[in-house]
Amino acid sequence: MTIKVRIPSQLIIEHKAIPHLYKTEIYEWIKNKQVALISGKGKTRVITEQIIEVISGQASRIQVMSCENNTFETINELERKLLEDTPDLIFGIGGGKALDVSKVVGTRSNVPVVLFPTAISSDAICSPIAVIKMMNTSTSIGVRMPQGVVIDLDLLTSCPTRLVSAGIGDLLSNKSALFDWQLAHKAGKEEMNTFSSLIANNAVDSFLNLLNQPEISRSRLMKGTAESLIMSGIAMSIAGSSRPCSGSEHLISHALDYHCGGKALHGEQVALALLFTEHLQGQYESVERLAPYYEKLGLPAHYEDLGYTREEMHRAIRKAPSMRDRYTILNEFDLTDQFIDQVLDEVYPESAKNRYQITDSPAG
Ligand SMILES: [Zn+2]
Repeated sequence: MTIKVRIPSQLIIEHKAIPHLYKTEIYEWIKNKQVALISGKGKTRVITEQIIEVISGQASRIQVMSCENNTFETINELERKLLEDTPDLIFGIGGGKALDVSKVVGTRSNVPVVLFPTAISSDAICSPIAVIKMMNTSTSIGVRMPQGVVIDLDLLTSCPTRLVSAGIGDLLSNKSALFDWQLAHKAGKEEMNTFSSLIANNAVDSFLNLLNQPEISRSRLMKGTAESLIMSGIAMSIAGSSRPCSGSEHLISHALDYHCGGKALHGEQVALALLFTEHLQGQYESVERLAPYYEKLGLPAHYEDLGYTREEMHRAIRKAPSMRDRYTILNEFDLTDQFIDQVLDEVYPESAKNRYQITDSPAG
């Protein structure tokens, strides 16, 4: 039996991708059609203006909507406006939240979506999952894959370092997530899709291979990160869930968000938690292998650098298994205070402190 996998029919990762949009198939899609632009905040607005300039002669109508957050209320409001005169296509433009909101609105109103990521801070840039805020809690929901993804490398090279670190953290977490998936499969809890796990694993390996090259430009690094995050999205599309890219490290990050005030970015938190979960998984080689990359890429290696106290880490780790019904390595340990203390000491030594700084504010 074969399965049908949804992937974007247009994927553009190039320099000048936005000014050159008129040369692409996407430009043909919007000929005499109505397009709704859902734009994030901050610098994203400037990029939205650039897109309007390029498509204004081609589309019959352009409606611009702004998205300040990813709450359920915002989604309902945008959907209501959109359905007054349903567009043929939605362009989602932003760093993370605007992309998620566009995916949800597109899925619910049955309008195809093209995403224009302005940062690569997570695998949301091309995935069948969206994170929305409901009752002050972030929830992941299944959505339709985007029909197209346009990544302008000129935009990404000016993307704040912190957002890039977060994107890389979200990518590296595939390793721990795949181990957990395998574990759940062995324990008879879940089916495993080998093809999906292969793609999610290769997404990380091809990125690490790129880093091993002697000299690598920022633009090449951005391209490699974007490509690998997109492969992660495809792996999720094959699996029909976030399983290949979200395991125990994501559960800890969700618990940090829910129980400890969510002080850092999603990708920063999973990068940090990954060190803990890979240790539990006994993947010492992987942790050792990753260590130089954490230094080289500037990833957070100590919880205090992300603003969390030891007590908060305890709370997040204890609460993590209950964040969702997903069997992981956390289910195989008795998470006593003493045990958590011992692992925290080993995984986050004093020497790992003060290497990472939360600086610029993230883009919407
Ligand atoms: Zn993630």
